[in-house]
Amino acid sequence: MIPRMLSGPCDTKFCTRCGCCISICPQECITITTHAEIDDSCTQCGLCREVCPGEGTDLKEEGRKLFEGSCYNQYVGWINHAYTGYSFSDAVRKRGTSGGVVTSLLICLLEKGMIDGALVVGFDPEKPWKTVYQVATCAEDILESAQTKYQVTPLTQRIFSLPLERIAVVGLPCVIQGLRKVQALKQGEKIRLLIGLFCWVNMEREATEFLLDMLKVSPEEVASLEYRGGDYLGGFRVTKKDGEVITLDKECYNVLPFLFAPERCVCCSDFTNELADISMGDAKFMHSQKGHTFVITRSQEGETMLKACLDHVSIDEHDIEDIIWSESSSLFFKKRGHRRLLREPSVHSEEEIDIPVKNRLFEFGFTLIHKNRNFFRSLFKAMPVELFKLVSRVITRERS
Ligand SMILES: Cc1cc2nc3c(=O)[nH]c(=O)nc-3n(C[C@H](O)[C@H](O)[C@H](O)COP(=O)(O)OP(=O)(O)OC[C@H]3O[C@@H](n4cnc5c(N)ncnc54)[C@H](O)[C@@H]3O)c2cc1C
Ligand code: SF4
Ligand code: SF4
Ligand code: SF4
Repeated sequence: MIPRMLSGPCDTKFCTRCGCCISICPQECITITTHAEIDDSCTQCGLCREVCPGEGTDLKEEGRKLFEGSCYNQYVGWINHAYTGYSFSDAVRKRGTSGGVVTSLLICLLEKGMIDGALVVGFDPEKPWKTVYQVATCAEDILESAQTKYQVTPLTQRIFSLPLERIAVVGLPCVIQGLRKVQALKQGEKIRLLIGLFCWVNMEREATEFLLDMLKVSPEEVASLEYRGGDYLGGFRVTKKDGEVITLDKECYNVLPFLFAPERCVCCSDFTNELADISMGDAKFMHSQKGHTFVITRSQEGETMLKACLDHVSIDEHDIEDIIWSESSSLFFKKRGHRRLLREPSVHSEEEIDIPVKNRLFEFGFTLIHKNRNFFRSLFKAMPVELFKLVSRVITRERS
């Protein structure tokens, strides 16, 4: 029998590809394909398994230990304060996804000497349609990495060998869950702030390649790429090496998660990044032309860091019910998801919730397409672009 450590820290079907095992492995013997794989140089030290969030985390209990003094809500987890906000910098707001709060907060913390650098997600300079985690140590690098990337991106930097003492990390919920475990180890002392993004589901890189193909752009022609480029809400924007710019509004590609969400994402119930110090999402309900960011502080450290940056970001306190109401379709999906239809349990232990009928229809539609995604990918691929946009808008209207 192959020892478990030689195939990966968790069962392959549970691997989120967060990369936390790579970031902690002293032997550099882990690579990520469709899941984490370990080569023969493994010394069986067990660190990767200790930090792996793949098989689930008790979000309520872990949060209880981390966020003393915060209140618990069954949909969004532990809350210190809830806000909506935006960056004071026009450059950041233009480049950012929602209100640019993540980017401005990082720039401010760096300028004030409260962190030495941040782990953020940008594009591979050699292959600018592939996303990678990067170490940003100046405001320019942080601004360059702004904006959401809808692509599975493992954290591959080895935290303990980074020449930085105080690091902030921006991550999706599964990355933050793993980094909480890393923080409990000695190497994790360097991680001073965990900024979490909301996450409905992520997408395989094939989704990006599918869009490029649909827009008749080969990856080799790509000079730069954005998923939320242009005016808010923005959209997929490709700049070709010959200078041509091609765009596709976000709502015209909203159907892609139905076709390209990783299997692991549909059994994940952490939408608002329940273990982050500060969680940020898209405050679409503000109906602002420039975009606003939802901000939930959970730890006292998160609240303090945010308050230290009020010269960079504007924030207004908000009723958490506004967030729950405006994100109800995503929250309901995540907290119950199509797991219920497939009779699969959530990987995170929590109470079952009941949801309205219209959300059940959405669950049903998602499940139907996702379960038969190879067929639907071929079907969508055969469509002319205009029909693809129309179908995407119709199918995803409920979620948007
Ligand atoms: C896959 C994915 C799904 C999301 N789903 C939702 C959703 O359903 N509802 C919702 O309200 N919000 C969602 N978000 C969050 C939202 O898109 C914005 O990131 C958030 O509102 C912060 O906006 P901002 O303008 O303050 O961030 P910005 O100032 O634009 O900064 C964004 C930061 O996120 C980092 N980043 C970008 N992509 C990734 C990534 N894949 N992994 C880790 N870090 C990354 C960037 O490096 C940058 O530092 C999602 C984000 C991602 C990456
Ligand atoms: S730590 Fe993350 S990438 Fe590594 S095996 Fe676990 S889930 Fe997969
Ligand atoms: S057991 Fe230790 S050496 Fe082996 S892959 Fe995991 S972290 Fe690396
Ligand atoms: S849905 Fe869950 S597993 Fe998938 S990327 Fe988001 S946080 Fe990670």
